[in-house]
Amino acid sequence: MNNNIIEKFSKTAGFLYRHGWAEANAGNISLRLDDAKGFKSGKNAKDVFTMPVSFPELDGCYFMITATGSRMRDIMDYAQENIGLIKITDKGKKYTRLWGRAPATSELPAHLMVHKTAVKDKPQYRAVIHTHPANLIVMSSLKKFQDEKNLNNALMRVHPETKIKLPRGFAVLPYIIPGSVELGDMTARALMKRDLVFWSMHGVVSFAENLENALDIIEVAEKAAQLYMMKCQFNDDIIRLEDKQMKSTLDCFGIKFEI
Ligand SMILES: [Zn+2]
Repeated sequence: MNNNIIEKFSKTAGFLYRHGWAEANAGNISLRLDDAKGFKSGKNAKDVFTMPVSFPELDGCYFMITATGSRMRDIMDYAQENIGLIKITDKGKKYTRLWGRAPATSELPAHLMVHKTAVKDKPQYRAVIHTHPANLIVMSSLKKFQDEKNLNNALMRVHPETKIKLPRGFAVLPYIIPGSVELGDMTARALMKRDLVFWSMHGVVSFAENLENALDIIEVAEKAAQLYMMKCQFNDDIIRLEDKQMKSTLDCFGIKFEI
């Protein structure tokens, strides 16, 4: 068994749970692997499942992914019963469970749509995390933040390191039915341009080279949202980073000032 991958997956799940970002069976994680080396197929392995929509671009790809209904708090202690290693087969029309539990999360279309785009355009990107951080969800529920520019302005000007750590910023999608192909398609397109995508009134999705970086994105964004909410309580007496301050700070890090 490949303990390193399982350990990283469990650590990520534990972090989401401990921060209160993954209540009950909320949230899901996927990681694209090169192969199934180190994973022994157990009893009942090789179950085959049909995809809700086909992904020919991902035929032959391997993913470690959370199983449908699994809880982040359980993954920490019982990984094999809550996550599964799957291989995409039959020209992307099916997937086979090679290890652990399946079927995969109901958000499988969103995860695979993102991975599909990445395999072509950003092959170094392998990790997708969807989760429910409260401050980010509240921000995505405010009318003024349905406008991407307003959302980026609010979060980027609250703390200098937000733009440094997340230079591509945030996208916001309208409310779309969870698990739908439409949500997956729009998420994949938004993540090619932005670091984090808000699913309005629902949660966020990050995408990065590995699980640690995907988690960093959410952690930095949630801190910025928390600071923004706290500052809002002092309406008359707050300052925010102005253009000049942001530009001179970002210049030091070689990051272009654009929101
Ligand atoms: Zn969700």
